Amino acid sequence: MMDDTERCSLCGAVIEGKALSVAGMPVCEKHRDEAEKRIWSAVGYYRRDALAEQRKKELELNGIGSLIARSSEPPGFRLLIEEHDRSLAQEVLSALGERIAFCTECRSEFDEGELFCPSCGAKVPERDR
Ligand SMILES: [Zn+2]
Ligand SMILES: [Zn+2]
Repeated sequence: MMDDTERCSLCGAVIEGKALSVAGMPVCEKHRDEAEKRIWSAVGYYRRDALAEQRKKELELNGIGSLIARSSEPPGFRLLIEEHDRSLAQEVLSALGERIAFCTECRSEFDEGELFCPSCGAKVPERDR
């Protein structure tokens, strides 16, 4: 069953009225100010929240603040950082040394097995699947 109730991608609260969008995702009234003050950029997409949490901690150890946003399409969790932290965040993620997939177009990290980059929609090369 499709539920057309919109929920805040940061806290999960049901959004009354028109949803506000940050980086293409709905946010509630309470989160609008924080979300609008900065330019957020998705640096990773994960199907499991545990993996997203782990990445968030790695970034924190390197002094980079991030937000985990629930995404409904595709379903999963996006790791958002401020745009100016992007190169550093990508270095940190790349240095983790695990078998992880990066988009060749936008360099976002995502779980293995995706056919298309969940962040920018680029087709994932065969060898990286
Ligand atoms: Zn919220
Ligand atoms: Zn991409």
